[in-house]
Amino acid sequence: MKNRNRIIELASVREYDLVVIGGGIVGAGIAQNASVRGLSVLLVEKDDFSGHTSSKTTKLIHGGLRYLETGQLRLAYQLSRERDLLEQLAPHLIKDISFILPLIRQEAFFSLKASVGLSVYDLLSFNIGHPHQSHKRLNPQEVFEAAPSLKQENVTGGLRFHDAITDDSRLVLAVLKSASAHGAHVINYMEAVTLNIESNTVRGIECRDRLSGTNISVRCKACVNAAGVFSDQVLRLVKDKWKPRMLPSKGTHVVVPLSAFPTNTGLLLPNTDKRYIFVLPWQRTLLIGTTDNLYRGNLENPLPDADEMDYLLHAVNQYNGGRRLNRSDIISAWSGIRPLINQPGSSKSNGTSKLSREHQICSGPKGLITVVGGKLTNYRLMAEETLNYILSRFPQIDAARGAVGRTRRLMLGGWLDKEDYLTSTALIASRARKLSLDPATVDHITSTYGKDALSILDLVEQDADLKERICPEFPPLMAEITHCVQNELAVSLEDFLARRVRLAMLHHKLCMEAAPKVALAMQSLLQWDNNRLDAELQALSNSLSEQLPSPFISAK
Ligand SMILES: Cc1cc2nc3c(=O)[nH]c(=O)nc-3n(C[C@H](O)[C@H](O)[C@H](O)COP(=O)(O)OP(=O)(O)OC[C@H]3O[C@@H](n4cnc5c(N)ncnc54)[C@H](O)[C@@H]3O)c2cc1C
Repeated sequence: MKNRNRIIELASVREYDLVVIGGGIVGAGIAQNASVRGLSVLLVEKDDFSGHTSSKTTKLIHGGLRYLETGQLRLAYQLSRERDLLEQLAPHLIKDISFILPLIRQEAFFSLKASVGLSVYDLLSFNIGHPHQSHKRLNPQEVFEAAPSLKQENVTGGLRFHDAITDDSRLVLAVLKSASAHGAHVINYMEAVTLNIESNTVRGIECRDRLSGTNISVRCKACVNAAGVFSDQVLRLVKDKWKPRMLPSKGTHVVVPLSAFPTNTGLLLPNTDKRYIFVLPWQRTLLIGTTDNLYRGNLENPLPDADEMDYLLHAVNQYNGGRRLNRSDIISAWSGIRPLINQPGSSKSNGTSKLSREHQICSGPKGLITVVGGKLTNYRLMAEETLNYILSRFPQIDAARGAVGRTRRLMLGGWLDKEDYLTSTALIASRARKLSLDPATVDHITSTYGKDALSILDLVEQDADLKERICPEFPPLMAEITHCVQNELAVSLEDFLARRVRLAMLHHKLCMEAAPKVALAMQSLLQWDNNRLDAELQALSNSLSEQLPSPFISAK
């Protein structure tokens, strides 16, 4: 993933088998699957990769326990299988996390229902190839040892179960890197603005390069719309009167310091409105989420609102045995929009949590294939189905059909296989020790970059100044700025601080304190003049203060 200008030159002169519009997890998965099957592929993303929904999730790779309640057994089964497979394919990036569901004295029926639900969850997860830990009943003492912040009165025990957690943006980048390694061309800040039709079929797109302001024209045999919540807008490019099918639902998360609500485990907290709130230790902070409400606002920039943040704090405080969490504990917040599909009658109510999370693949007007819905967790399966669908409809695309299902065995993170993963991670650890890097840094660079952690170590070996932390409280190093600019198409301060590393989503205040030195490093790598440097700092500051307005900003 480098040489943006060279890729643009190539894209302007060749015909691709497949053009993918959208660089979230769905588009990335499709580009990977297509390139692995031998198709020539171009993916265009109008903003940064994972700049929208795919960087704003709860970070879970999960079987979707709550889908059992809504009777979506098939979906929960599919998601559990994918979770277990992805843990094997990306062991550096997708890791087991245990959850406790506290059981309350007055809620005997709920306790019974939860036990039965988790037994079904275990059954759905049963897989000889990839064994998954079954749930377990805990006594009150075990619950409080794992989650010391919980209120002791009324808790009669808990149920421990396992799912997996990831870094969503890094997952998108890992899938895109895998696609690139198989020959796909991927370009960020490239917006599809017109779809060119020949013989009643989309045979090309006009794109606007948002960095240079120029337009390029790309030819293709087939085109996929993987634009998430923007998919109706892309469909309108081929049919003016396209009737919207998306029913966007907004989900907000808040982040508080781990010290504000100490827990050694994830928690699944039933709320009084019958929804569940996740509390997750993640990258040295605590994520609390999420809300789930019909959203009719600006799709480009959904912002957390005060009611949503208060709702999340209130939900946790019902279980909080320590100091109550309040607004000043919040160190970061963000909102994402779920690309849910409208179903008859669903737009009438505000609650969207009961809407299906299943995906749909369909051939729209002018042969434009559109893929919407789904989850981060089942991106690989959606991509596999999409490619099967495309190849059955576009016989002119000559693909290595034997490559069907190859992504089931293809590791992410640049590891060739399990053995390569074990030997390379040992090598990364030993080289890092010689450079006096601490274990938290080793863990961070390995989980973030996979085998490319070796390139970070090369940079530190060449220039010892690059082993300085970007901000003392979090592990990312200055060397990562160079790596991400040179190899991951990071072109703005926010690309780096929000999506290549996650400081902008973890701690607004510390992120802004570190921003000037990151901006200076990017200035020299990308030859920014001083005006550009100031504009980048201002843009980051505006973006963070919009997400967490001043009454919320924590001095912590
Ligand atoms: C709050 C929340 C929590 C969630 N938590 C989880 C979770 O824990 N686990 C899980 O499995 N799933 C979770 N999900 C669901 C999951 O995040 C989404 O299903 C998934 O990220 C959608 O990916 P996508 O690629 O379809 O959309 P996006 O990530 O939005 O990608 C679409 C991309 O298309 C680009 N685009 C649009 N128009 C154009 C154009 N004209 N030209 C070029 N590019 C264009 C956009 O810029 C965008 O980047 C969550 C969702 C939300 C909102």
